[in-house]
Amino acid sequence: MMKPSVICLDLDGVLVDLHRALVCLFGEDPDRYTDEDWSKVGEWGLSIPKGDFWGRVRSQGAQWWVNLPKLPWADALWQAALDTGAECVVLTTPAPFPECAAGKYQWVSEQLHTNHILIGKPKEICAQPGTWLIDDRAGYGPRWEARGGRLLSLQRPWNPSGMPIDAILGELRKYASAGQS
Ligand SMILES: [Mg+2]
Repeated sequence: MMKPSVICLDLDGVLVDLHRALVCLFGEDPDRYTDEDWSKVGEWGLSIPKGDFWGRVRSQGAQWWVNLPKLPWADALWQAALDTGAECVVLTTPAPFPECAAGKYQWVSEQLHTNHILIGKPKEICAQPGTWLIDDRAGYGPRWEARGGRLLSLQRPWNPSGMPIDAILGELRKYASAGQS
């Protein structure tokens, strides 16, 4: 397998815990959720009973996105990607309003200490040979890989066929550059 030259990392569900915050916002207790409940929340939480789903999220402003917690493996994942020597960039599709994009930009700046972030879609226009995408949406695979890239699909309750986080970290560490920790 070719060493990656570029690694694109998804934000929601890969680095950021969007989902617990969404469940809270819609008045439910995430601590009572089972894996089956989480599988229904899905990649974007769009299956939460919601009425005006995006209107309610948007009303929270950009700061809601800035305040979203990191997933427990986020720092290790970002570091393992950097340690391959590849160019690393966050690649994220925004919710359909500008507060989201602004909040995501600030989150990445504050939490990952980088401005390497691309916000938009379609993600697959970034795919080419040597370019990996780490994402919790397996559906990107065919479109990403048709352009010669490689998808590392992260296992989450809504993506049970994906690779566990430890397997993704192990895959990245195979390519760690000599002399880096
Ligand atoms: Mg995602």
